[in-house]
Amino acid sequence: MKAGDHRKPSSGGIQKHERDQRHDAKRRVEKQSRGWYKSKLWLARREEQLSSEPLCRRCKARGRIAAANTANHIIPNKENWTLFATGELESLCEACHNSPVQREEARGYPIGCDASGRPIDPSHPWNLTPRT
Ligand SMILES: [Zn+2]
Repeated sequence: MKAGDHRKPSSGGIQKHERDQRHDAKRRVEKQSRGWYKSKLWLARREEQLSSEPLCRRCKARGRIAAANTANHIIPNKENWTLFATGELESLCEACHNSPVQREEARGYPIGCDASGRPIDPSHPWNLTPRT
C-alpha cells in the first residue's frame, strides 16, 4: 500500500461547473411555464382532473390501485400556453409521473377519453373494470 492510494478520484471540478451552468440555462427556459402552474386556471384544471380521475391512470392500466396526486399533460406543453391551458390531462401518482415511461407504447392502447372522461378505447382497463 502506498501513501497516495487513499486519494479520491478527482472528478467534478471544472466539468461539474460547466454542467451547472448548462443546468441554469435550462432553468431559465423553463421559468416562464413554471409560473403557469401557480395560475388559477391551472389549479382549477388540476383539481378537476384529480377529482374526476382520482386514481393513477398508468397504475390502473397495470392493474394497480394508486392515488393520483399529479395532473399530467399527455402532450408535453413545451412552453406553449394553449397546450398547457387546454391540453388533455391524465392523473398520475408520483412514481409514475417521475418515471420516463413512453405512455402509449407502454400501455398498448390509445390515449384519450370522451366528454364524460372515459377512455375512448373500449379495451381500456377503465372500461373493462366495473366501477363501484
Ligand atoms: Zn402510478
